[in-house]
Amino acid sequence: MSKKQFKAESKRLLDMMINSIYTHQEIFLRELISNASDAIDKLAYLALTDQNVGLNREDFAIELRADKKLGLLTVSDNGIGMSKDELEQNLGTIAKSGSLQFKQELDKEQRDVDIIGQFGVGFYSAFMVADTVTVLSKKYGQEEAWMWQSSGADGYTISPCEKTTVGTEVILKLKADSDDEKYSRFLEQYELQNLVKKYSDYIRYPIRMEMEKSRQKPKAEGEDEDKEPEWESYTELSTLNSMVPVWLKAKKDVTDEEYDGFYKDKFFDFEKPLAHIHISVEGAVNYKALLYIPARAPYDFYTKDYKKGLQLYSSGVMIMEHCEDLVPDHFRFVRGVVDTADLSLNISREMLQHNRQLAIISGNLEKKIKQELLSMQKDRREDYEKFFAAFGRQLKYGIVSDYGMHKDALQDLLLFWSAKEQKLVSLKEYVEAMPEEQKHIYFAAGESNARLAQLPQYQRLQEKGFDVLFMTEDVDEFVPRTLMNYMEKDFRNLATDDLDLSSEEEKKAAEAAAADWKEGLDFLKTALEGRIVRAEVSADLGSHPVCLVPEGGMSFEMEKYFKRVNPEMAMPVEKVLQLNPEHPMVRKLKTLITEDPEKAKRYAQVLYAQGLILADLPIEDPQAYTELICGLL
Ligand code: ADP
Repeated sequence: MSKKQFKAESKRLLDMMINSIYTHQEIFLRELISNASDAIDKLAYLALTDQNVGLNREDFAIELRADKKLGLLTVSDNGIGMSKDELEQNLGTIAKSGSLQFKQELDKEQRDVDIIGQFGVGFYSAFMVADTVTVLSKKYGQEEAWMWQSSGADGYTISPCEKTTVGTEVILKLKADSDDEKYSRFLEQYELQNLVKKYSDYIRYPIRMEMEKSRQKPKAEGEDEDKEPEWESYTELSTLNSMVPVWLKAKKDVTDEEYDGFYKDKFFDFEKPLAHIHISVEGAVNYKALLYIPARAPYDFYTKDYKKGLQLYSSGVMIMEHCEDLVPDHFRFVRGVVDTADLSLNISREMLQHNRQLAIISGNLEKKIKQELLSMQKDRREDYEKFFAAFGRQLKYGIVSDYGMHKDALQDLLLFWSAKEQKLVSLKEYVEAMPEEQKHIYFAAGESNARLAQLPQYQRLQEKGFDVLFMTEDVDEFVPRTLMNYMEKDFRNLATDDLDLSSEEEKKAAEAAAADWKEGLDFLKTALEGRIVRAEVSADLGSHPVCLVPEGGMSFEMEKYFKRVNPEMAMPVEKVLQLNPEHPMVRKLKTLITEDPEKAKRYAQVLYAQGLILADLPIEDPQAYTELICGLL
């Protein structure tokens, strides 16, 4: 029989498995048991509608067998089984399980994480402890059974075999003990029992093992009462796991470690979650839920590949892996489980969408999640900032999407960078810290905080003692546009809006300056033809001579954003040149306009270029600009 080769990625992972030193070899058992449990889930689900399965819920089990003489450890299940094609597909390639991709992401981030120990890589982890892995499987509904066998990276074989019952048997020929590693410990019943307790206690099907036990021999009639009792050994098929899912336990009976461990194991995260929410509701609808707020975004979170949703169980049977209708999009980072007996088991996906109970549950969950996040924001700020770094962008998308429908639900969860406080603040904190004379919420959007701090308008606000929120993410600028106001204060964009800073007197002075500048402004418009739509005087520029502001509602940042995401549709934003009439250079310009128009033109170009630099826009022709400056100097 010819050997088949593993797919390239699988081979690399296998090499990694076989050749590295593992501190967490023992997790192979958890992985095999989880696979067995998943396979049983699938058949148990079928059994709900298919009489032919012929098994009841209590018939399903996972069995461990240790053969010390031959050095074999077997994990068997009476789940769905695998066909020949599936053996090939599932065990010949790991592309599906996503573990390798995950590992590559971590490599990119240069993070040294013990991926195998903490994350697990499924079936392949068997090669950490075994020389040879043999899988016997018979798929439900098929006549023939198949044997898959591999001794590691050099490939695998598949051949027909004898197997009477439906399900899968994974047989490990353990590696020989060395000075450093005692693989034979995985044949000890004590060790196996501990590993099951540690990693797989919540598995909802019994994990059974033939256990050797001992008991006192009953005393024979008339035997001496004081004689030492005699012991005898016997074997008994015992269940090693408690089988109670964490979410069905009472809160007081679950430790934080157990909550965290369950999360890591179930949702393939190596970092413990920031929070868990354990809910038990009885009333119009009855359900239990265990939700988690992860500490980091999965590598595919902001892509189409990420699947949101909670696992949906009905009385201990999983009926859906990702039930999308249970969490709104803006909370799609939440992972967890919902268990309700109120749903009919063979409900279809479509019917589920319109299910009233489900709608009530998801409404409740949304409230609970928000509460949890708000209390984290208040009491565990550091954790909240970690959460926000991972998922804040999602919340902002949530505000902007659906025409702002969810803004009331989400606005209190936002954080923005406060230029004054030099830390992240909520909108509430911003408004509460506003001086009495401040009427608006000021924000500026751009590439970086450092750039924004150089905006002339910012300096003006700073002088007044007003705080400004710095927004540096793509989606940021759309948030205030959608919110429009918060606690009755409207948002003002430093780059585009009237900042409403001048007193009546100052306004009068500005009007006078504008009248005085009338001809000068026309001159500038002609001198900078094609680059600006007009020039105007402004009292808001602080110590800066000029500033470029966009005409119309779009900001330069939005223009850049659209250029990036949708270049064909991007429309150039027209520019207005604002002048600070008090500035010496601007005064000088004014004199030049009458005395030396040629020189004034060049001055105008320099000022325009300064405006570009301050607005973080590229100089159109750097060489010409340099020559211009040199000429003037
Ligand atoms: P993962 O469980 O993360 O998908 P694995 O490498 O552990 O990755 O398993 C790959 C696939 O092989 C599983 O998704 C499943 O389809 C199949 N499989 C593994 N073990 C069993 C089993 N005991 N019974 C049926 N199918 C199994």
